[in-house]
Amino acid sequence: MKRTLFAATLLVIGVFAVFAVVTRPSTAAWHLTSESESLVPDAKLRSQIFRALDAAEHSGTDPSISHFKVRAATVITKDGEDHVVLGGNTEYELPEAIHGESSLLNHVTSQFDADTTRHAVRFVAFFGERCGAGASCGDCRDYQHATTDYAHLLIVCGQSSDHSVHVSRFADQLVDEEKFPPASPETLPISPGDLARLTASATEARLGGVTLFTSIRHTGAAGLSYTGKIYRSAGGDDAAFHYRFPIGGLLQQSATERDYFLRAIVVVGEKGQWPVVNYRDRQYGFESSSFNHETNRPPISLILTDGLGHYRATTFEAALPHAFSTADFMPEALHQFLQTHVPKSK
Ligand SMILES: [Zn+2]
Repeated sequence: MKRTLFAATLLVIGVFAVFAVVTRPSTAAWHLTSESESLVPDAKLRSQIFRALDAAEHSGTDPSISHFKVRAATVITKDGEDHVVLGGNTEYELPEAIHGESSLLNHVTSQFDADTTRHAVRFVAFFGERCGAGASCGDCRDYQHATTDYAHLLIVCGQSSDHSVHVSRFADQLVDEEKFPPASPETLPISPGDLARLTASATEARLGGVTLFTSIRHTGAAGLSYTGKIYRSAGGDDAAFHYRFPIGGLLQQSATERDYFLRAIVVVGEKGQWPVVNYRDRQYGFESSSFNHETNRPPISLILTDGLGHYRATTFEAALPHAFSTADFMPEALHQFLQTHVPKSK
């Protein structure tokens, strides 16, 4: 989600989107911050951004759990005409949601086609009370990465209080695995023995999982907790395409045992290749690492291996820039949760 809109929400997300072709002229009240001006030198694009923000103000949402509205819009040019498309978040039952920016892009595709989403969407604009909080969640990063010309996509926040417009590059929310720093067993925050155990465990985990639809990128992951226990998981697909990610899987196991604090997680892919760690899985790791932060532990070390004895290591904080977690908008609730759920022995 957009950095500003997001400060407040973890559950946010959803969509009640409305496609719309807005015909009224954009207001002159919006103005780019000085830092944003260089990112939008094109006068026509500026006008489209302002028009999208006017439209986003009225985008429908249904954030029944978080009560945090994510109102998104873009303007695309198709056959010489400009079209406004809206997106908004909706939430349902358990903390589940359709996110504003994902709904927006889905609406561009359904109203036009996938090629239009990839080549004609130049920006995603959010209308909000204030700007400056978290960026998109991990899943929305995956979706934008997969469906748009992400290297050139701009993220816009229009702040209603003063009509200032804050623009950033979506690419600033991405960190490719090849950019994770190379590491050696001697330089990691766990012992070479623990690294060997985790690597072997993740490698064996990868033999399992469910790969009925997944022909590539199958991975296994193993995590070491502060109690010395190892949890592991492999990716699992299903016919509804609700993929279950390996890091999320092992973190759910450790949480089930009330073993909430992880020291390191090793991810293994096909031998000879660096594994891909989806941004959605990074979001799970970031949330868990915020538990470490709350209790003054170091962040979880995220370690990748190519299966040939080479390693790269980073943190979820570095791998998911500008992220948000429960700790950001419900710090007291997180404090209370850990106080009441962590066994004294852990
Ligand atoms: Zn999202």
